[in-house]
Amino acid sequence: MRDVLEINGKIIGLGERVRLELPVARLYTDGEIGIPIEVIRGKRKGPTVFLSAAIHGDELNGIEIIRQVIQSKALTRLKGTVIAVPIVNVHGVLNHSRYLPDRRDLNRSFPGSEKGSLAARVANLFLTEIVHKCDYGIDLHTGAIHRSNLPQIRANLEDEETFQLAKAFGVPVLLNSTLRDGSLRQSASEEGAKILLYEAGEALRFDDISVRAGVKGVLNVLSELGMLPKRKSRLQTEPFVAKSSSWVRATASGIVNSKKQLGDHVKKGEVLAEIGNPFGDVIDVVKAKYAGIVIGKQNIPLVQEGDAMFHVAIFADSEEVAEQIEILTEHYTDEVTG
Ligand SMILES: [Zn+2]
Repeated sequence: MRDVLEINGKIIGLGERVRLELPVARLYTDGEIGIPIEVIRGKRKGPTVFLSAAIHGDELNGIEIIRQVIQSKALTRLKGTVIAVPIVNVHGVLNHSRYLPDRRDLNRSFPGSEKGSLAARVANLFLTEIVHKCDYGIDLHTGAIHRSNLPQIRANLEDEETFQLAKAFGVPVLLNSTLRDGSLRQSASEEGAKILLYEAGEALRFDDISVRAGVKGVLNVLSELGMLPKRKSRLQTEPFVAKSSSWVRATASGIVNSKKQLGDHVKKGEVLAEIGNPFGDVIDVVKAKYAGIVIGKQNIPLVQEGDAMFHVAIFADSEEVAEQIEILTEHYTDEVTG
């Protein structure tokens, strides 16, 4: 761990906790726009971890997860450094939009460049000012607009340490992802940082279970890294790695009557949804092409033929995964209601 941490020209020493703003761009109105950051450094040495959310500006669950993590009393015993970036895509959050005003996807614009498009500049700034100073990172996402994701970790599970951290997070569904897609995850991994991507919930919404599982997950990972004391009340769910996953698309255009929900175990050929006309006639049924678990789902009950409706992941033993998902859901629902 570095004794000296410098962000935007400001030196942050061991034991310090500071809030700062990383200037991104000037506005038409002559004002400035900046990324809000909180840096928490323990007195004792340990790894440096970034927590990032809202790289897609309409994905808000992660903002709430970071707010709760950095308010957590557990952090008073922190070893090492947490760099919390609750809002990476500030323009996107202001506009309730996934994208930047130049209509680029920030998470396809890494590593970016100093003199490139707005998206390329934000990506480059985040990489040089934050990621380069970190050993690990947890990037928080949700489904796209009108789509929900079951809490899941996506990471390069072929890397042994990343796999250990993914398991420690504490959600049942893990997806191996080694795409070269211009994402923060890809660029950060190439810089040598180990990255987990947490996907849960829907854009523009807070989802209680996703937020609670996310807060616990982040604290579990910090604990696994030795940055926080061992956690006593840790929920034990078994993690399973999906063999593959794909979207089931609408076979007709119409009004949707969903038969399956997030986390459900589906059998090959089972009906996922009925598609009907405005008079109540069923005109087609959408069936599972193989057995698996519904890990993502379109929520808007209107579809055009070809729309992606259900994201189904295949596991060696889907029934066991479904059981673990039920344990997770019940655990966090109890916490919400009682
Ligand atoms: Zn996202």
